[in-house]
Amino acid sequence: MLSMTIDGETVDAHDTFDVVNPATGAVEAQAPECTPEQLDQAMTSAARAYQSWKRDDDARRQALRDLADAVDAHQKELTALLVQETGKPLAVAAGEVASSAPWIRYYAELEWPKRVIQDDDAARIEVAHRPMGVVAAITPWNGPVGMWTWKIAPALRGGNTVVLKPSPFTPLSTLLLGRIGAEVLPPGVINIVTGGDELGKAMTAHPTPRKVSFTGSIPAGRSVAVNAAHDLKRVTLELGGNDAAIVLDDADLENAAGTLFAFSMFNCGQICCIPKRIFVPANRYEEFVDAFGAAARSMVVGDPTDPVTAMGPLTTRPQFDRVSELVSDAVAGGARVVAGGKPIEGGGYFFEPTVFADVAEGVRIVDEEQFGPAIPLLKYDTVDEVVARANATDYGLSGSVWSADEEKAGAVAEQLECGTAWINCHAMLPSHAPFSGAKHSGLGVANGEDGLLSFTEQQVVHTARG
Ligand code: NAD
Repeated sequence: MLSMTIDGETVDAHDTFDVVNPATGAVEAQAPECTPEQLDQAMTSAARAYQSWKRDDDARRQALRDLADAVDAHQKELTALLVQETGKPLAVAAGEVASSAPWIRYYAELEWPKRVIQDDDAARIEVAHRPMGVVAAITPWNGPVGMWTWKIAPALRGGNTVVLKPSPFTPLSTLLLGRIGAEVLPPGVINIVTGGDELGKAMTAHPTPRKVSFTGSIPAGRSVAVNAAHDLKRVTLELGGNDAAIVLDDADLENAAGTLFAFSMFNCGQICCIPKRIFVPANRYEEFVDAFGAAARSMVVGDPTDPVTAMGPLTTRPQFDRVSELVSDAVAGGARVVAGGKPIEGGGYFFEPTVFADVAEGVRIVDEEQFGPAIPLLKYDTVDEVVARANATDYGLSGSVWSADEEKAGAVAEQLECGTAWINCHAMLPSHAPFSGAKHSGLGVANGEDGLLSFTEQQVVHTARG
């Protein structure tokens, strides 16, 4: 069994919990259930390590380079665990693992931003950024390695130390990352603890961390904000989305349909910022529906370890049940099933790639985040109408506009109430681009220079002269 990492040591727990392989539905591993005492030890260790970690930025940069090399050296084992715990196809899991080290190196090489707002005979005023302390980091099950990377790299470069908890559905790759971190980092700089939602609550309410970095669902994000409020911890919340993709009537339909289909089914539809509602102009609707139907019917679904597989199972039983429920609800509500529409028999949490036409607001699969391989295609008549419909939601993570005319697409994109608006692409997430959610989709910013600054406290240094 893989162990937790606390103060650089491997730590087991008295109790364990089951880890299911979603491709078979069978329990294939156990993970340690962190006790309250062990959480205290992890927090104490992180607070101790912080005292020296915060002091030397050059040492941190070198440590991050070493961490990136160590992650690269373990790509194969990480990929195998990621496939086992998430059901991601091999190539998708390998891609997630391969992107971790470059992301860490980006933060190792990033120049620390400096802002001098006055420098004259009267005064010098500089806006500086200082480390915060211990960060409590909590990740979801849809991208365990990616989300570990998104939190660890800027938090450590910012001079902080971390206690991180992965989702109880997918703890294995993160437990291994804890061991990899311990190979190259001082004890206590990254601590990995595993357990359920209660452990997440204990982390956010714990007196030691100065910041909580959370990625997950909107209800859990609300609970994190409440628990962090009593001692005013800084909070970054990366939450759910219900992205609208708006295809304008001059778009290259073949390209738009092919790309939007691929993204809406990527990782079995379990990505926060992929298309979840696709709006198509009435005069091009049937053409688009046909293209989506054909793509869905030709998608290879099956064993994630088989290299020909394009889509594996849903990652968790609750998510499988939820997608099944939303699909049944859409059918009952009169949606036209263009492709798929049901679970795939034979063990595991497999679901057919599903496309709905003639469906609109008021049906749950349109109004809620489905987080699964079932995509509704919605018909619209005017641009004003489609913008209003895209924005008529509490979600505000991201969205996209598709057109042959960049300027025209830009004019629509700027009206979208969301943190990222893509034009002729979707879900593009380079390390240097800030990423944030508007409305209920989040609080604060991740990634890029802004993401680094979100792991710091601002300090104004004001020197009087003359
Ligand atoms: P979840 O909220 O159920 O769980 C996420 C993590 O939070 C898990 O580690 C869980 O144990 C922990 N947790 C649950 N309740 C908690 C609480 N009250 N206090 C503290 N921790 C708690 O989410 P999930 O089902 O694992 O992930 C799917 C969701 O994550 C989707 O809504 C998806 O859109 C969202 N997500 C968002 C982003 C983003 O960057 N915006 C990225 C990936 C996933």
